[in-house]
Amino acid sequence: MADYADLKGLNDAVLHPMSIPAADQSNPMFVSRGRGVTVYDQAGKAYLDGMGGLWCVNVGHGREEVNEAIRQQLDKIAYFNTFGELSNEPSVRLAARIKSMLAPEGAGKVFFSLGGSDAVETALKLSRQFWRASGQPTKTRFISLKHAYHGVHFGGTSLNGTPSFKEAYGPLVPGCSQVDNPFPYRNPWSADPDELGRICADILDREIDFLGPQNVAAFIAEPIQGAGGVIVPPANYWPLVRSVCTKHDVLLIADEVVTGFGRSGCLFGARGWGVKPDIHCFAKGLTAGYVPLGATAVSARIAAAFDQPPPGGFVAHGYTYSGHPLACAAGLAALEIVERENLVDNAATVGAYLLERLKPLEDRYAHLGEARGKGLMLALDLVADKRSREPVNPASGYSDRLAADCQRNGVIVRPVGAKIILSPPLTFSTENADALVAALDGAFSRVELAAKAA
Ligand code: PMP
Repeated sequence: MADYADLKGLNDAVLHPMSIPAADQSNPMFVSRGRGVTVYDQAGKAYLDGMGGLWCVNVGHGREEVNEAIRQQLDKIAYFNTFGELSNEPSVRLAARIKSMLAPEGAGKVFFSLGGSDAVETALKLSRQFWRASGQPTKTRFISLKHAYHGVHFGGTSLNGTPSFKEAYGPLVPGCSQVDNPFPYRNPWSADPDELGRICADILDREIDFLGPQNVAAFIAEPIQGAGGVIVPPANYWPLVRSVCTKHDVLLIADEVVTGFGRSGCLFGARGWGVKPDIHCFAKGLTAGYVPLGATAVSARIAAAFDQPPPGGFVAHGYTYSGHPLACAAGLAALEIVERENLVDNAATVGAYLLERLKPLEDRYAHLGEARGKGLMLALDLVADKRSREPVNPASGYSDRLAADCQRNGVIVRPVGAKIILSPPLTFSTENADALVAALDGAFSRVELAAKAA
């Protein structure tokens, strides 16, 4: 066992993602082992994983079937590329599996990459190529939502709906704009969900009209906005958006990086809204995080447009690790578990139970504005004032103090600005949910007490 002080010294060599290097980094946690819904730190202390790694370890940690599938592939060959006519068995099997899971949506082909940002970038590039190949080369613009998160590559960053993620990285990709998202808890229009859904779908309609449908390639959105704060749209929003996109012949891209493969309590987030997107972006739950993998599934109509001689039919896009055999073997094993253990239904029932247990905390704590979510993606929205719903100042460190208290008590939750995000493995039980709620309840009471004393 490595010495904690030694590891801390080595940790200085890492520029951590989504970090503030100048802030206090004196207490890093080295996650060293995991089994089921539990992870262990360098000292062997156990924690309930309320984060699911990062929205992704859907089947739980240390599943022997996934480990064995990776080992078996490793014994054959770890890697070879899949450009052109080269291929490998796990990747074709996984593509066929995804395609059959998406049969009701009419998926045509699957393009593999390494993660969610890649899956989004691929969707954007293939959208533009589709319109060129279809004789409509002016359709190049993209529209996304405020509060959206679509990864960190330049396309995804340009479509991000939170300004702080973009500020340091301009100039960004031209031709990207954001429209208002339907945010039931915080919007200037309506407390009626149906009316809010109509208003926001109309805003998209007007934006496409304004830009000119002949200039718009695609609208991209998360079926439930995740990193932006688990914002669940009204039930009519996605069906209305589908109609708007169809009316203007604009592609609808569902960024299912978080919602894909069960997290929202439906196999796919868009399917949960009764909608068929033209493109789905996947990562995370696809392999449950065991090996990095992204996938972009395009409709049969889009796939057919590439069936022509170059230049229209030359897919000049591909990653060294597209269709990586180890990742695809892990994906096949992970999806098998999701299906066999009925984890989609478990996410729906345990998620509903967890939300029901969190709701009463709204009345007990001054700074808990709203507990919300769908399936096993939930957020606690922290407010400075309940009436105005003004968020707590993220710089106050309120959510960090809540998360640190939970961590001291053996539970990991994710502080993101003025929110706590919960996204445990889909194998979570109601007992696990009770433990998570107890930790949060205790954390709120101690943090509010300390704030009063200060
Ligand atoms: N899209 C969505 C909706 C996401 O939540 C994320 C990551 N949380 C991404 C894209 C980017 O995925 P990755 O971090 O694997 O690049």
